[in-house]
Amino acid sequence: MLAANFLNLQADLEMINRSDADWLHLDVMDGVFVPNISFGFPVLKQVASYCKKPLDVHLMIENPDKFIREVSGLGAMMMNVHQEACLHLHRTIQQIKEAGMKAGVTLNPATPVSMLKDIIRDVDMVLLMSVNPGFGGQKFIPHTLEKVRELRNLIEQVGSETLIEVDGGVNLETGKQLREAGADVLVAGSFVFKSAHPEETILQLKNL
Ligand code: ZN
Repeated sequence: MLAANFLNLQADLEMINRSDADWLHLDVMDGVFVPNISFGFPVLKQVASYCKKPLDVHLMIENPDKFIREVSGLGAMMMNVHQEACLHLHRTIQQIKEAGMKAGVTLNPATPVSMLKDIIRDVDMVLLMSVNPGFGGQKFIPHTLEKVRELRNLIEQVGSETLIEVDGGVNLETGKQLREAGADVLVAGSFVFKSAHPEETILQLKNL
């Protein structure tokens, strides 16, 4: 939603509701963990009440544990926390699940996939950042493809059903490469919202 028109969010949410998008991905930034601030719970509550798609909430914030109840209160389907922001990641994952949500762990571009070796069985989804978090519209970091392949191997080794999601610089070209590498879920912001025909673009991404 980061690339939506905030002066007419209703129109963009209507487009999302009509579209074939599976989920709506929401990037929450605190100006501490990332060098930018996006939107907070007053906006999220209104979006949640209007959006018909399951909400995939990505917290780019310090101490995301503090907000588990608030995110659950939105009716969110998935809560993603950054591995780099959680000292007690296992506990955070358990608390997210106890709150009735699926638990996602996010890795920044510089964080290796191997950091997840001991937690992968407990995680519903891993979100790989393919740009440095904080801003929309950035260029895809190609090394992400290797990380997707490595993560796919790790998931297969332990036999878990963890999904692989990628966020940042996704378009038809990088999206196709990501699908081939083994990604399950693609997040697209600017590529959809800046497109002349956003619903068609969503369909094209889904058909990769
Ligand atoms: Zn995100």
